[in-house]
Amino acid sequence: MTDVFGDLVGQDEAVAMLRRAAASAAALLRAPVTAPAGGHDDLDALAEEYDDGDPAPAPADPGAGMTHAWIFTGPPGSGRSVAARAFAAALECVHGTGCGTCPGCHTTLTGTHADVRLVVPEGLSIGVNEMRALVLRAASAPSGGRWQIVIIEDADRLTEAAGNALLKAIEEPPPRTVFLLCAPSTHPDDISVTIRSRCRVVPLRQPPPAAVAEVLVRRDGIAPDVAEWAAAAAQGHVGRARRLARDPEARQRRDAVLAVPRRLTGVGAAFDAASALIEAAEAEAAASVAEIDEAERTALQTALGAGGTGRGAAGAMRGAAGQLKDLEKRQKSRATRAQRDALDRALVDLAGFYRDALAMAWRAPVAPVHTDTASLASAGAQKWDAEGSLRRLEAVLECRAAIEANVKPRIAVEAMMLALWRG
Ligand SMILES: [Zn+2]
Repeated sequence: MTDVFGDLVGQDEAVAMLRRAAASAAALLRAPVTAPAGGHDDLDALAEEYDDGDPAPAPADPGAGMTHAWIFTGPPGSGRSVAARAFAAALECVHGTGCGTCPGCHTTLTGTHADVRLVVPEGLSIGVNEMRALVLRAASAPSGGRWQIVIIEDADRLTEAAGNALLKAIEEPPPRTVFLLCAPSTHPDDISVTIRSRCRVVPLRQPPPAAVAEVLVRRDGIAPDVAEWAAAAAQGHVGRARRLARDPEARQRRDAVLAVPRRLTGVGAAFDAASALIEAAEAEAAASVAEIDEAERTALQTALGAGGTGRGAAGAMRGAAGQLKDLEKRQKSRATRAQRDALDRALVDLAGFYRDALAMAWRAPVAPVHTDTASLASAGAQKWDAEGSLRRLEAVLECRAAIEANVKPRIAVEAMMLALWRG
């Protein structure tokens, strides 16, 4: 029997912490309401219950009890948003446990619960207007009588102004509002120090391949041998492992990336490989956003009507042009994000190959990331030795860092391919 935390692979400590918090939250909802005087809210009351009269807002055991704001941290694919959603479901669960079957759990997990809002940034950042609107709505009383929950995926993509708007809400939270943020880490580059200081952190680790394979078999009905291969190839990224196991196109793209080391036979070949990698990422990104772009354009055109001829029509036209321009800007930002994400996946696969070569050159007793290119990596290990393998691995990682620092992807990838060829 699995409850809402069943899909949190290899995260026992985090799950235990969230279960305790959900139980505290449920106890709080059951507790008789004492008239809140100025500055008092439900959570303060709960904290006092824990602290035996001590007015400090933090419970004695930081792992127990409930709080208004949480940050889920961990590497991509470790399940940050899965954990945040599971916790949201447990808070909305009519049994207060995250049973997985009641209407509260079910609607939260399927994204239809009226009191749970999910923010998934589509562009490169989350803007201040979006955040202000969200904070405003989150301040209303929960319609289901439990909690108003705002889940912010990729909180590291908040603009500074949006972060400030969020901080204000976290500093003076409405009594029944809970913010769940997801970010790669609590480094100040990812999340501001002031927001961090107001949140309880739930650290997630990169799940081991065996745990990822297990969930693919159990939940997705994938054959065990395919699940094991995909879990290793995805390097602990659960969503990526599932895609590799299920989507032939994703497998083909990965095969093309892993063919790169073999193809680097000269300067021309290096530039060709760079072009191929960039174009494949562009094509993948374009395919992933095409459908939603078209749907948005159609919806906006419908909303704006076919244009009028009466007085005010000229003004309306100008307004329409502005809205179309805004939409195009948003779509462009989303496309850029999708391209970078696709390129980054390719670079992670490539890094895995050189990591395998390095491990083999050292004769390290670890399983290869890419079992299907292990013999190629072994040949590379003999040819390059540990030093050459390490230099190549570093070239891939430097390329990722350069793109993250806004170097033009084509320039970064060309430099990487040349470095991989020269060694
Ligand atoms: Zn439930």
